[in-house]
Amino acid sequence: MITPSTHSIPASGSFCKVAAGVYWLRMPLPFALDHINLYLLEADEGLYIVDTGVQSEHSKTIWQQVLNALNKPVAGVIATHMHPDHCGLAGWLCQQFKVPLYMSALEYYGAIAYFSPNPGADTSVEVDYFVRAGLSQAEAESYVSDHSRYAESVAPIPLAYQRLQAGKSLTIGNRQWQILTYGGHSPEHVCLFDAEARLLIGGDQILPYISPNIGVYSREPEAEPLTDYLYSLQQLKQLPADTLVLPAHNQPYTGLPTRCDELTSHHLKLLDRLLKHCATPQSLQSCLPKLYRRTLTGQMLFFALAEGLAHLNHLVKAGRVTRSLDEQGVYRYQACETN
Ligand SMILES: [Zn+2]
Repeated sequence: MITPSTHSIPASGSFCKVAAGVYWLRMPLPFALDHINLYLLEADEGLYIVDTGVQSEHSKTIWQQVLNALNKPVAGVIATHMHPDHCGLAGWLCQQFKVPLYMSALEYYGAIAYFSPNPGADTSVEVDYFVRAGLSQAEAESYVSDHSRYAESVAPIPLAYQRLQAGKSLTIGNRQWQILTYGGHSPEHVCLFDAEARLLIGGDQILPYISPNIGVYSREPEAEPLTDYLYSLQQLKQLPADTLVLPAHNQPYTGLPTRCDELTSHHLKLLDRLLKHCATPQSLQSCLPKLYRRTLTGQMLFFALAEGLAHLNHLVKAGRVTRSLDEQGVYRYQACETN
């Protein structure tokens, strides 16, 4: 069991103190997951903002109110990873306050790439990704990437940044934050760990009640993010058991080793279901009902395919499933007899 912290959850758009010099801000999101937790770290020179919310007038107004209430300058903006709810206003905040953006290299360049429409590039590789998953040609074409959506929810990423690297640390006020980076949910997700206070800013890497999306997308169809993610859980499990985790969604909690075990067993169960289902050759699309009960369309289907493929790629690379291309150009997955 994990134990939620005793701090009461701040109302949407407001904040509270969760540790000395650490504030927890609850920012609304216009999605089914209706909020994100952002953190502010206090130092003599000002506040370091950790994650920002998506770009919207409403989020900007909340930032102005919060920063007025704290009455301290902003000293820097840290984005744990490139997803719009985390770095949506990073560029705007950096520009407003003329402060640096801190990100890991893969997340920074990933964010820049998502902004680039790249006109004239061959989109057939994106169509192939969906056709190989079992979608019709017409369905596949409807999913060809639309960069405008990312650009709508993310203010332009600053043209310069300061790189966060695993093994280094950031000193902010009285705290020394170790920089930890992990793959799985995004390529080089940053977590910050204060070993002395046993405080972990976890971002989306390790959430208390939901499993972060682990997906393989058309940009890198042979990626193995689930392998990376399971490895990250083994590493996070090594942190002290009484560490207070400050996650990006839901509420702070202790019980990190338990949560690592729960998330590991969640993914192992999904792998097991897929192995059973692939006793006869199956397409990715035909595997999805084994992973999700609800009917999948639109964006839900897009993310479900990505998550399903992450699990199948993991099994293929582990030699537990074989993959072959059928006459329709669809990948068929079949469990190996040695399973
Ligand atoms: Zn994320």
